[in-house]
Amino acid sequence: MKLDTHAIRYLTGEDWRVLTAVEMGSKNHEVVPTTLITQISGLRGGSGVNKCISNLAKVGLIARVKNAKYDGYRLTYGGLDYLALNTFSKRKSVYSVGNQIGVGKESDIYVVADETGTQRVLKIHRLGRISFRTVKANRDYLRNRHSGSWMYMSRLAALKEYAFMKILHENNFPVPVPLDQARHCIVMTLIDAFPLRQISTLNSPSALYAKLMELILRFASQGLIHGDFNEFNILVHEDTQEPVVIDFPQMVSVDHANAKEYFERDVKCIRDFFKKRFRYTADDDGPFWGDVKRVGKLDVLVEASGFSKKQAKELEKYMKEVAPLGHNDEAGTAEGGEGEDEDENESGEEEEEEDSEEEEPEGAIKEAKKPMIGEDGKEL
Ligand code: ADP
Ligand code: MG
Repeated sequence: MKLDTHAIRYLTGEDWRVLTAVEMGSKNHEVVPTTLITQISGLRGGSGVNKCISNLAKVGLIARVKNAKYDGYRLTYGGLDYLALNTFSKRKSVYSVGNQIGVGKESDIYVVADETGTQRVLKIHRLGRISFRTVKANRDYLRNRHSGSWMYMSRLAALKEYAFMKILHENNFPVPVPLDQARHCIVMTLIDAFPLRQISTLNSPSALYAKLMELILRFASQGLIHGDFNEFNILVHEDTQEPVVIDFPQMVSVDHANAKEYFERDVKCIRDFFKKRFRYTADDDGPFWGDVKRVGKLDVLVEASGFSKKQAKELEKYMKEVAPLGHNDEAGTAEGGEGEDEDENESGEEEEEEDSEEEEPEGAIKEAKKPMIGEDGKEL
């Protein structure tokens, strides 16, 4: 879905309260009853709250759920996006939203700006967006878990990515600077560089190759494996040809049961890509798992920083069951295909029909010259 921020400035303080109430209510209600929304919002019941509900539903931030036994609503991705943006706006991390620069299977990437006009990157995690091969598994999994699971999993992915990026940045790894995190979103610095995937010639393939292999080894010596170290997740500065690594929701500790396999896969990804794109093959096939000399414990530190082992397990279980390919990028999707005959068409007709009531609003991304949040929103 796209992020359509045009309505954000027109929400009143009461609309924000009601939207927040729907979010809170959905923590333990799949469908939040209108009476509960009224109660949590702390607003007097009656036409006021109903008007807010209808405003929010009209712009697609909440959706009325059909066939529910009672009158109720659920938060949409659009609603969660607005709540996160409102938080970023209040913390002055994001002032305006610009163009979308990336769309992965499980994330949307936008260029945003702070009040001074400095550009930043907003990454919106969208786990639970249907993985077409596994529509049914997805649906069962997400329905059987506690309500709002897509919200919870997306939030976990953002929490994890932020925690890892922070530790890596603090330890001088070449990663974007993590600036803020709220709900399912993170804000980081914009790297003015292209993904390796888009680069056709390098000054020195051997030099970059060596740097990337060194990085994989350095990650591991600090206790970490990227797990998706490929041409999509390495940005290369045009002038210096220095790499910057992005995309961390699948990072694991070197103590993980599959650590060796992930380490070797990261090495192989780069080796294969350099061979194919730059016709470059290194003299040796290393680094090897046996080369890893552990000198640091960033994997332990990251746990202490607020992303717990339990959360890591929950997210990993989701990623395995719902997105078993283990890659978010085309590279991963291309190798997939377990032969399930689920329709690969993104529109997922069957799915849409059934969930049409829950569809997110579509809309053009507007370059917001004005602040996103209206005066009323700031009073929240
Ligand atoms: P996904 O999980 O969907 O793969 P990524 O974090 O890899 O998401 O981002 C997707 C794309 O967005 C990247 O390939 C890159 O082109 C762009 N991108 C992401 N973060 C940044 C950033 N900080 N600076 C510049 N471009 C970025
Ligand atoms: Mg990526």
